[in-house]
Amino acid sequence: MKHAAVKFDTACIHAGQAPDKLFGGVSVPIFQSSTFAFEDADQGAARFSGKDSGYKYTRIGNPTNAALESCIAELEGGAAGLATATGMSAISTVFMTFLGAGKHIVSTGSVYGPTRTLLENELVRFGVESTFVDTSDVENIQKALKSNTALIYVETPANPTLSITDIAAAAKIAKEAGALLVVDNTFCSPLLQKPIELGADIVLHSMTKFINGHSDVVAGMLVTSTLELRSKMHKVLCQMGGTIDPHQAWLVLRGVKTLALRVKAAQASSILLAEELEKHPKIEWVKYPGLKSHPQYELAKRQMSGPGAMISFELKGGVKAGKTVMDAVRISTLAVSLGGIESLIQHPASMTHASMGPKARAEAGISDGLVRFSVGCEDYEDIKADLWQALDKI
Ligand SMILES: *Cc1c(COP(=O)(O)O)cnc(C)c1O
Repeated sequence: MKHAAVKFDTACIHAGQAPDKLFGGVSVPIFQSSTFAFEDADQGAARFSGKDSGYKYTRIGNPTNAALESCIAELEGGAAGLATATGMSAISTVFMTFLGAGKHIVSTGSVYGPTRTLLENELVRFGVESTFVDTSDVENIQKALKSNTALIYVETPANPTLSITDIAAAAKIAKEAGALLVVDNTFCSPLLQKPIELGADIVLHSMTKFINGHSDVVAGMLVTSTLELRSKMHKVLCQMGGTIDPHQAWLVLRGVKTLALRVKAAQASSILLAEELEKHPKIEWVKYPGLKSHPQYELAKRQMSGPGAMISFELKGGVKAGKTVMDAVRISTLAVSLGGIESLIQHPASMTHASMGPKARAEAGISDGLVRFSVGCEDYEDIKADLWQALDKI
C-alpha cells in the first residue's frame, strides 16, 4: 500500500502494512514458513520462470519480509527495499554485487569498523582496491577517483567522529565518474536524512540501531533508487544467503512504528545535553551536528532535518577519565551499539577501537578521552543527573 500523501510519522505506522487478507489481522502476520506450496506443476514452473511473482522459498522472498521492505523503501523515498540478516550483510551484498577483481572503491575513512575491515581484509583477496579518505571534504573523493572506480561509499554522520559529508556533492562526483553512490544512513534514520532525494543510488541501514530501536534484533536494509539496482543485489543476496528471518522482520516492523516518536524524543534530550556538556568543566570539547561549534554545522542544517541523538565528547584526562565515567554511570548502559530506546555509552579507545593502537586512532580522529553517547528515551533530567554524577568522579 502506497502512502505518498501522508506524513513521515504516519508512514512509519502504516507503510507496506495493509490488514491481512485472510482474517483482517491488523498486525502483519509472521509467515514463519521456509517454503510455499504450488497449486500444480504449471504454477511451480511459472514461479521459477518469473511469469508468476508468487512466493516459492523464504531465502528468495517472504511476505513478512516484503512488508518490511516496502515500509522502509517508502520512508526513504526509494523505489524498492531489500532486507538482510544484519547491517553487515547489507554492506557485503553491495560490495559483492558491484565490486570484483580490478574494481575500485572510494570510502569514508572513519566508517563503521567492520565495513573497513571487510574491504581491507576480505575483498582485497578478490582483487578489489580500496581508498579511504576524509569525505567531509568532497575534494578528497574527487582526488581519489580512478578509471576503475565503481563505488563511492559514504557514512554520514561518521562513526564515532560525527563528521559530515555533503551527499549532494558526492552524488554529483559519482554521476560524473560513472560510479554508484552508496550512503550508510544508520546514524540518522530516514526521519532525519533522505540520501536518495539528495542523489544517492543506494541507501543502507543497520536496522539493529534506530529503525528497530529496541536493542533486541540484528537486521539490515538496502533501499535503491531504481528497481534494477534492487534486482541485481537480490540475485547476489540469494546466492550469498544473508536473507532476514521473517520473525526478525516482524520485530523490526513493530519497532519502526515508533521510529519518529523515539528519534524526536531522544533528539530533544540530545540538543539540551550537548549544550550543557559543552559548558561542563570536565569536558574538553563536544561534537554534535546541532552545535555551532561542529565543523560542518551549516551543512548538517541543510542536509539533515535534525541533529539526531548521537553525541561524541572528549573528557579531560584521557583513557583513565573515560574508564572512570564508564564505571560510574547507572542509568546509561555501558554497551556498544546505538539507537536503542535506552541510553548507551561507550569509550572507543578502551573498547571498540582499542585494537587499532594509539597512532591509528589519532589518525582517525579518535582521541583517548572520546566518549560516544547514544541518547535514549529516558527522562532528560535522569539522563543528565546520571552523567553529571559520573563526571564528578573523574
Ligand atoms: C552497527 C552498524 C553497522 C553494522 O550493522 P550490524 O547490524 O551490526 O551488522 C553498519 N554501519 C553502522 C553505521 C553501524 O552503526
